Amino acid sequence: RRTEVRREQHGIDPKLLDDRAVKVVTTLQDAGYEAYIVGGAVRDLLLGHRPKDFDVATNATPEQVKALFRRAFIIGRRFRIVHVVHGRGREHEVIEVSTFRAYLDNAAAEQVEGNEKTSKAEMAGKSHVVDASGRVLRDNVWGPQDEDAARRDFTINALYYDPRREIVVDYHHGIEDAKKRLLRMIGDPETRYREDPVRIIRVVRFAAKLGFEIEPATRTPILRMADLLANVPASRLFDEMIKLLQTGHALASLEELRRQGLHRGVFPILDAVLDDAHRHDGREKFIHLALEDTDRRVNDGRPVAPSFMLACMLWHDVVKRRDKLRAQGEMPMPALLQAIDQVFDARIGDISGRGKLAADMREIWMMQPRFERRTPSTAEALAAQPRFRAGFDFLALRAEAGEADPALAQWWGRYAGAVGAERQGLLDAAR
Ligand code: ATP
Ligand code: MG
Repeated sequence: RRTEVRREQHGIDPKLLDDRAVKVVTTLQDAGYEAYIVGGAVRDLLLGHRPKDFDVATNATPEQVKALFRRAFIIGRRFRIVHVVHGRGREHEVIEVSTFRAYLDNAAAEQVEGNEKTSKAEMAGKSHVVDASGRVLRDNVWGPQDEDAARRDFTINALYYDPRREIVVDYHHGIEDAKKRLLRMIGDPETRYREDPVRIIRVVRFAAKLGFEIEPATRTPILRMADLLANVPASRLFDEMIKLLQTGHALASLEELRRQGLHRGVFPILDAVLDDAHRHDGREKFIHLALEDTDRRVNDGRPVAPSFMLACMLWHDVVKRRDKLRAQGEMPMPALLQAIDQVFDARIGDISGRGKLAADMREIWMMQPRFERRTPSTAEALAAQPRFRAGFDFLALRAEAGEADPALAQWWGRYAGAVGAERQGLLDAAR
């Protein structure tokens, strides 16, 4: 049932809104369409937080939306949406506009075998497609707002805010659940996890990020459904994991994964990190410090590079493999290089399109032994590297975790900030 909730009840402070998002909504409304701020932004507004990004939902089609804005781009295949872009360069902002979608049960969908890759041809010309396990592969059938709400994941994520009338449209008691701090799946949880197993990861992410409880019926099927994650394309899973680590609650997210029994066999990268052996050999300290540092940065509004996080997460796997190769008689640098290749193969797999990320991780790792050598030419060259800062931050974390000499980290900190004769003095002192 549709309810319109007024400001006295929802309490959203319009000062937390973004002018450009409001402008997108009012432009659509002035053109005669329905338009609302939707999803995570409304949830955050309701909780009194300033949303980091704004999504808009409308009954205008992507083509109709595009026609109303100067810089608007239709993107996506599985899920077609419009990016309305404001500003340029670093300052630019993207408002995502999606058209209300119909909620189709799987009986209404066209079923194809296999995954996206094998079924491109079969999907051609169709707008709603599922695979044999019920996973939705394509979702582009437009529909009314109530159906758009029903196909969203959690009740608190299915709220629509009209900034002009200052009302929230709520079909699933989302406002009530937000007050109770509950994550509740809309519809039958098991069916909804089947449609999109990534919802299993999303529930964990939101629980950790918002500090909400997972409502029992939503929680119970999680472990049973976890195997379905194996059908999700690796790249989407990878993106989800990066999101999990960048919520500002990475530590809490890992704890929540453990609590739900998802800490093994879901993300190969996490398998390397949460390996129970590490609990005893002290290596967890490094990961813990790295994630704490990540959380602190996110919460201070500072950027965190996924490459840095992943380099931290996989470092001990690299070290373990390197030491083994060393024990087999390999020389230090080749051992490190081979260990790195093995880790990419074992933990990340196909990283096509992520060349930059992999290159950055490699560089951070390769810099570590070079920090040990403090000769004039190597020190100069190292400090001049574009990725020096990341490599140095990494060294500092290792030192904090008791894995590298704190004096060495301190020395590099001083060296990096020094010039000319000062640098020479530091080099002389290090000999
Ligand atoms: P965040 O603050 O982390 O971005 P969010 O709720 O905005 O959280 P998004 O991934 O940006 O999450 O998705 C925007 C909205 O789209 C969600 O609030 C939800 O309504 C809907 N949505 C996203 N992913 C799914 C999904 N897998 N299944 C159903 N609905 C989804
Ligand atoms: Mg979002």
